[in-house]
Amino acid sequence: MGTRRNFIEKLTVSAIGLPLITNPSNLFAASEEPYQGRILKVAIMGLGSYGTRVAEAMKDCKKAKLVGVISGTPSKIVDWQAKYGIPEKNCYNYEDFDAIKDNPDIDAVYVITPNGLHCEQTKRVAKAGKHVICEKPMGINAKEGQEMVDACKTANVKLLIGYRMHYEPKTVEVIRMRQEGEFGQPKFFQGQSGFVIGDPTQWRLNKELAGGGAMMDIGIYSINGARYMLGEEPIWVTAQETKTDPVKFKEGVDETIQFQMGFPSGAVANCLSTYAMNNLDRFYMTGSDGYVEMRPSTGYGPIKGRTHKGELNQPHITHQTLQMDGMAELIFEGKQPIVPVNGEEGVKDMKIIDAIFKAVKTDGKVTLA
Ligand code: NAD
Repeated sequence: MGTRRNFIEKLTVSAIGLPLITNPSNLFAASEEPYQGRILKVAIMGLGSYGTRVAEAMKDCKKAKLVGVISGTPSKIVDWQAKYGIPEKNCYNYEDFDAIKDNPDIDAVYVITPNGLHCEQTKRVAKAGKHVICEKPMGINAKEGQEMVDACKTANVKLLIGYRMHYEPKTVEVIRMRQEGEFGQPKFFQGQSGFVIGDPTQWRLNKELAGGGAMMDIGIYSINGARYMLGEEPIWVTAQETKTDPVKFKEGVDETIQFQMGFPSGAVANCLSTYAMNNLDRFYMTGSDGYVEMRPSTGYGPIKGRTHKGELNQPHITHQTLQMDGMAELIFEGKQPIVPVNGEEGVKDMKIIDAIFKAVKTDGKVTLA
């Protein structure tokens, strides 16, 4: 894998001006030896828009394979069976999926349903003895997140959160540079995460199913980004909410929140999370000896960015393909990504979100333990 990546990197650097490589796996189809190790056999729960994106990306995985589905819509199951060659015995609905415990052909379930369902569904999957990959946000608060971590520990299965950026090559390079001191002492992070949300009836604007509004969905990228760009955990937050459309964004569903975080070293972060502005996908971090700006910073890519040393030239590879191969390596080979993707990592973000909501309510500074 390492060798293949290095090769792709060199190829991309020498091919500046040519289209980006979007599916490098194909380049190696003939030359690379087939993978001989264990394949992570995955069932996707929730066949919506992101579930579909993951399924498509998994076609290029070497170490993970889509083998099953869990859905409440029989017609979608039939479609997915035809499209991805999924056998009848690996198809479940939300009532009967506990029976997955008797299915040796499924190793892990990827929960890609609305946020408010993640906790209960994760606990059921864990009880069935299968590893859980769960989308972000892992639940709707830290209490749920901790329950999920505990349930997976008790069941002796892994809990991984769909933090695809932890596998994205330019992001990984920036984290490596920060770890090796190439920015000096990190001082300041700015994160802007947002888009204009459409259909007012969708679950993302339903407090029960979403757990909030923009913060749960997109603001979480700035929170997670601040942590991996600065390499510290915040010790306090302050936050201010702006709501221009109280009909669309009901009580408990945030439209725009500006928030600040303070870190033990004295570094600070200033972030914006919104469902009311487009073209907000930007990270900026400056340290005592250098800086990085990424824009777009967390979209599906290609991610673009530059540091004080020049352009980031790592190749664009479909994030979910890298993520799922990486998660297979984590589960079967114990190989960790540059920053964790485990349940504990998810709980850290949830605690910060809880604190941000509290800071909005109290209009004060909330200290994090
Ligand atoms: P979606 O609405 O497109 O799909 C949700 C799926 O859940 C649908 O198939 C729907 O039928 C199913 N579902 C099951 N029970 C439901 C219920 N009670 N109400 C509504 N739908 C129900 O949403 P999505 O965009 O696929 O998001 C799903 C999850 O994936 C969310 O947690 C979201 O935050 C996450 N997500 C992550 C990324 C990422 O880049 N990591 C991107 C998009 C979404």
